[in-house]
Amino acid sequence: MIPPWTQYTDQLDQLWAEAYSKYPPSVIEFVFTISVQILAFWVPATIYLSIDLLFPVFSRRHKIQSERRQPSWRQIRHCVGYVGLNEVIGAVIQVLLRYIFGLNKSLFVITRDFPSLSTIVFDFIYGLLAREISFYYIHRAFHHPRIYGYIHKKHHKFTAPMAFSAQYAHLVEHIAANMIPIVVPLALRRANLFSFGIFVAFELWEAAADHSGYDFVKLPPAQIHDLHHEKFRVNYGTLGIMDWIHGTDVVGWDKPKKVPVE
Ligand SMILES: [Zn+2]
Ligand SMILES: [Zn+2]
Repeated sequence: MIPPWTQYTDQLDQLWAEAYSKYPPSVIEFVFTISVQILAFWVPATIYLSIDLLFPVFSRRHKIQSERRQPSWRQIRHCVGYVGLNEVIGAVIQVLLRYIFGLNKSLFVITRDFPSLSTIVFDFIYGLLAREISFYYIHRAFHHPRIYGYIHKKHHKFTAPMAFSAQYAHLVEHIAANMIPIVVPLALRRANLFSFGIFVAFELWEAAADHSGYDFVKLPPAQIHDLHHEKFRVNYGTLGIMDWIHGTDVVGWDKPKKVPVE
């Protein structure tokens, strides 16, 4: 028996074949990236927000932080508008760069067919590790007392985060911490656009889940980044590997240890 979704995958394949033969690489890359951003960030973030709105009792029971710490609707509306603006500015910058560098240039390799599974898995693991390392140091630098107030303070306005606040950040941070650690490592290795799409989709969903404020998010556990928003100087990375290496995964790591009095 032919699976019922075959007709949709066939239609998608036809659509891709047409786009591949008709449009320049940079146009394909731009439309593909924006589509992934909408599907993997805006859709899940809206679902998490809908839970707050439609199921308040369930929401109260499963929020990691207490009800009195949750953002008001006014703050949430402001956040969604600001994130939308960041999105538009990011898209405009992309369009300008593509015009400057030429429409036939793309950051990723675009092929008619899907890359092999082993390529996708390798790119995914490489992307995860490269992002963990680069994001950790960039994020930790943003916490330096001399620059914190200028840039990263904005993202920390939400001490109890909600999904959209994942991209509530100063434009400099949005580019340096949210975009570069995800895009540059795979672009440097000229990964396939599909590999990049799968990796970005995971990272965007992870960012929304990390900031959702819900305790039922287990992979990755939202508690790790939620604690960063609550206590600031803890859990700078996303996977926990770099925090474990640097010992920054425990609240109070930066305080002098008490020496027991004999
Ligand atoms: Zn955050
Ligand atoms: Zn931070």
